[in-house]
Amino acid sequence: MIPYGRQHIDDDDIAAVVDVLQSDYLTTGPKVAEFEQAFAEYVGAKHAIAVSSGTAALHTAMYAIDIDSGDRVIVPTLTFLATANCVVYMGGQPMFCDVNPHTLLIDPDAAVFSLNINAIIAVDYAGQRCPIGQLAMRARELNIPLVIDSAHSIRSAKNGRSKIADIETYSFHPLKHITTGEGGMLVTENDDYAERARRFRNHGINLDHRQRQKQVTWRYAMNEVGYNYRMTDFQAALGISQLRKLDGWIARRREIAQQYNSLFANTPVKPVAQQDLPDAPHLYHLYVVSIPERDRLFRELRVDGIGVNVHYLPVHLQPFYQSEFGTGSDMCPNAERMAKRILTLPLHPGLTDKQVELVASRLLWRLSKCGK
Ligand SMILES: *Cc1c(COP(=O)(O)O)cnc(C)c1O
Repeated sequence: MIPYGRQHIDDDDIAAVVDVLQSDYLTTGPKVAEFEQAFAEYVGAKHAIAVSSGTAALHTAMYAIDIDSGDRVIVPTLTFLATANCVVYMGGQPMFCDVNPHTLLIDPDAAVFSLNINAIIAVDYAGQRCPIGQLAMRARELNIPLVIDSAHSIRSAKNGRSKIADIETYSFHPLKHITTGEGGMLVTENDDYAERARRFRNHGINLDHRQRQKQVTWRYAMNEVGYNYRMTDFQAALGISQLRKLDGWIARRREIAQQYNSLFANTPVKPVAQQDLPDAPHLYHLYVVSIPERDRLFRELRVDGIGVNVHYLPVHLQPFYQSEFGTGSDMCPNAERMAKRILTLPLHPGLTDKQVELVASRLLWRLSKCGK
């Protein structure tokens, strides 16, 4: 099976993890702070706070910006469930927003922006930059925070990460750009958000184990409830080692996407989500095409050993959201129409040119049998 995504672990990664396993601290040790600093430098942010998953990072972001029971938060519907679920964790209501049918990014002109809302979450779908200029303007007009779910894009300061979002969150699941097994990160320029995030990941306690040791005290105070969302030190060591290789991996991802693009030129396979701006290059977490008879092709390619996938079923069509929040068909017509046609093809840095050719020719061959 050619998987649609796959992690890359080399000897340096393994040595980094083993080093920590043989050290005094498996968690709340020095590696987490070192990873946070390296990550903050890479993306060009003031604060980076490591947590146990991308979902935990989103939950922590909602806490940091103080989303409360009954609050309404805009979420693009074409995303992973966690982008919306984090609002529900706080007792809030996700306000599902339609997407642009070409980029599949949140549409900043959608009608939901004129409603009474308390925050915006945008997603860098597939590795494209969301329309951050327009979103930041909306957020300023409405005087509400803008959060970006950057699970698909770790954008370096030199690759156009603009500092307009109040918080950005990342995931280090094995299918994402870099991995720590499970893991996540939250970055912000805002000292208050950073302080709240650090407390939230450690039960809501004001001092962590290391700070208490430094201050020679066993006392701590908890004023609000938090969670155990800490990352371990061996995960952080893996993250540091992975981050060093990210630039090379992104270059390879872009190369593979160009190869697919030329193989699909003048065919019925239409690449979508291809926004590649000079100041915000596409990082190609996903390579997505629009095709007829998607469901049949999905099944046939899986049988062929090609790990295609679909990103995503619009979240507002999930049974939970339909029954709890009364969402349903025709709320987000672009997302609903495109969700029936999109297919994610294998794309990860370890894919060979030959495998890319194989995927493309198999897809084109299967497609040529359509309706026959
Ligand atoms: C992967 C992903 C998440 C969740 O990250 P985890 O680390 O798996 O919890 C959230 N949002 C998007 C868009 C994702 O792709």
